[in-house]
Amino acid sequence: LQKLLKGYALLNILTPEPKQISKAVTKDELLRAMVREELVLHYQPQLNIATGEVVGVEALVRWQHPERGLIFPDDFIPQAEVLGVIDELGWYVARLGLSEIRQFVNREGLQLKLSLNVSPQSLHDLQLPDIFVGLARQYGVAPENIVLEITESGLIQELASALDILTRLRMKRVHLSIDDFGTGYAMMQQLRRVPATELKIDRSFVHDMHQLNSARVVVRKTIEIGHELGMKIVAEGVETKEQLEFLRINGCDIAQGYYFSRPVPAIVLLDWMKNYAP
Ligand code: C2E
Ligand code: CA
Ligand code: CA
Ligand code: CA
Repeated sequence: LQKLLKGYALLNILTPEPKQISKAVTKDELLRAMVREELVLHYQPQLNIATGEVVGVEALVRWQHPERGLIFPDDFIPQAEVLGVIDELGWYVARLGLSEIRQFVNREGLQLKLSLNVSPQSLHDLQLPDIFVGLARQYGVAPENIVLEITESGLIQELASALDILTRLRMKRVHLSIDDFGTGYAMMQQLRRVPATELKIDRSFVHDMHQLNSARVVVRKTIEIGHELGMKIVAEGVETKEQLEFLRINGCDIAQGYYFSRPVPAIVLLDWMKNYAP
């Protein structure tokens, strides 16, 4: 699998995705955006493939910019990291996500997990697990209903400092998910050491499944290895019935993607869920 993933990474380099050109944001602009509450969350449902039930939602941040319109995270998260405001952004997103999910769960009596994306750069403070779980409690959300997603590549870079924090989070029953799995491809050796409960297959593999045997092998092997390590497997970027079917046949647990819903504001998702029948 290691070899395959390396070959795959090469293939991705050879066929790069078109990059959007965007104006760089400043630290002040980002801080102001938070004060003015211009950062909003859209949620995308995650479904249990076997039962069709909605089991969770992933919170994805957007910047509702007064002049530039909706800005997607790839256009400001990397800058937030470079400019050193990613911790503030992380806490902002956590509070907003927890408050919105609480309304959801309480109002509708739903059992939903909330998945939050965490920058690996933010995993430097040993106090983080205590503070985070305390925050969740404030919002009445149990730690076992929270999934923190950390990208595989970021995890590799920050493994030394992150491992202690992740272990403490896991001891407090917070779930941990390795996001974009397969794209970091150096991970297999280290993977055993990470107390993750979930692997998220990167959407590039899901996208290529129908045309590339290598993508199908990666998906199948990831499911196999993840299950052997006791993890749940989430496939992201599911857009077609055929993709869902392949994932189902191969024992993937959870699916997320445009096939079910785009990321949408909490209120829209709630409506979607009311009308959705597995
Ligand atoms: P990600 O965590 O891998 O999120 C999945 C991305 O795939 C999202 O892009 C989502 O809108 C998109 N997506 C979902 N389903 C489909 C599908 O069926 N087809 C296709 N083509 N795409 C799909 P988005 O929202 O633009 O987010 C991009 C990245 O920004 C995320 O990738 C995540 O790494 C980062 N991000 C988002 N929110 C946060 C946040 O609150 N904190 C941090 N640190 N990073 C965030
Ligand atoms: Ca994610
Ligand atoms: Ca991902
Ligand atoms: Ca990603």
